[in-house]
Amino acid sequence: MATDHHKRIILFPLPFQGHINPMLQLANILHAHGTFKITIVHTEYNSPPNQSNYPHFTFKSIKDNFSEIVNQLAWNPDSSFYLKHLNTSCVDPFRECLAGLLRETDKEPVACVITDAGFYFTQAVADELKIPRMVLRTSCLGCVLAYTRLPFHSKMDCFKLTKEDSQYESSVEEYPIMKYKDIAKITINPQGTGDFVGNMLNEMKASSGIIWNTFKELEESQLDTISLDFKVPNFTLGPFHKYFPASSSSLIQQDRTILSWLDTQPPKSTIYVSFGSLANITESEFQEVAHALFKIGLPFLWVVRPGMVRGSEWIESLPERFLERVGDRGRIVKWSPQQEVLAHPATGCFWTHCGWNSTLESICEGIPMICSPYFVDQPINARYVSDVWKIGVYLEDGLERVGIETAIKTVMMSKEGEMMRERITSLKEKLNNSLLDGGSSHQSLINLVDYISTL
Ligand code: UDP
Repeated sequence: MATDHHKRIILFPLPFQGHINPMLQLANILHAHGTFKITIVHTEYNSPPNQSNYPHFTFKSIKDNFSEIVNQLAWNPDSSFYLKHLNTSCVDPFRECLAGLLRETDKEPVACVITDAGFYFTQAVADELKIPRMVLRTSCLGCVLAYTRLPFHSKMDCFKLTKEDSQYESSVEEYPIMKYKDIAKITINPQGTGDFVGNMLNEMKASSGIIWNTFKELEESQLDTISLDFKVPNFTLGPFHKYFPASSSSLIQQDRTILSWLDTQPPKSTIYVSFGSLANITESEFQEVAHALFKIGLPFLWVVRPGMVRGSEWIESLPERFLERVGDRGRIVKWSPQQEVLAHPATGCFWTHCGWNSTLESICEGIPMICSPYFVDQPINARYVSDVWKIGVYLEDGLERVGIETAIKTVMMSKEGEMMRERITSLKEKLNNSLLDGGSSHQSLINLVDYISTL
């Protein structure tokens, strides 16, 4: 596989943690296994940190004016607002940057650009500059399938149902693994999200191929359907982070001191709690989490990102004397070395927001999950975890102490929890096999390298 291709690939990630990590991992994979030269184009906002860790890459920054939007306006809970902005404000700077890179005659010829699927505008730019565009889609296949089916435009009201509506608990006709209560979590703006998703899917179909951070054995039937819907080459070579040790593209400093505390905890005893880089919760939800963690009596490691609790800087709204009463049984950190925490023998379950990277990292380590999805693809991932793969419990009705305690007991202390652990351990084995010589992810990587070499 490692022949010298003397070609360059230009990669362009969306500027969010869950998108930067897999794009840089993919760049590393293509550099190591395809011997491609790598250029990373990135926005000024959330520019990839620790660039000196990647001496073999060239980084090019473009002006996006996104920081102004994020800093000047009040936080808008509608994610499509930000995504739409990025897809407008980056057009000219990206075109200019890409045209400049393509004009560089002293460098290797450019094989293709690989952009995040969420940067749908890049297809038109790539077409204009006559360079093939491949797409990295950072979610699971099931999420994109759901996006192709859910009635964002035709039945907007069904995204706004509340507990009082009779349909709230029912399955959604167009994608029956989802309930109406789930799709209410996906977005507060079905029109805006529908527009974004529609653009993204159309430009994925127009691309030269789609790279997925998943593996075939996990989503075999979804892959069959996606291959019919998206008639371009599809490559499932995930999980990317297994090709290299833990990511060094963390936007927040990881607190590594926590690993020596984990060393002192009994095997499979500790609840790891993290809701990722974007989700935020109310003060009362935060207190419900704290009460449940206190009451359950098990060791816990809880990631509370600064700003995660609405209206608080960090952990000021913890119940009185919480840390003192918990003592050495629990730790709160601002950001953790998550992949190492999940791989640690003391970790017993992962209470997660079900971002796709987190979900996949948990499967890689065979750690069953408690799911508290916040928005976009997370409620879809949560349904797959709880109802399809049956490797976790979905806290469907939000963060409330009695429900949380029941979920923790189910995963950590019941027969049902043991069965979840067995199922996720078996998925972990399939995943490891997929990365070996002749395995599906390994073969997909060979196919991808060959394909890019022919572009
Ligand atoms: N992560 C981390 N430390 C933490 C929490 C998360 O390094 O304390 C990493 C995690 O390993 C994952 C990424 O941040 O790779 C989060 O991506 P995900 O798709 O799960 O969620 P998002 O942040 O995009 O909502």
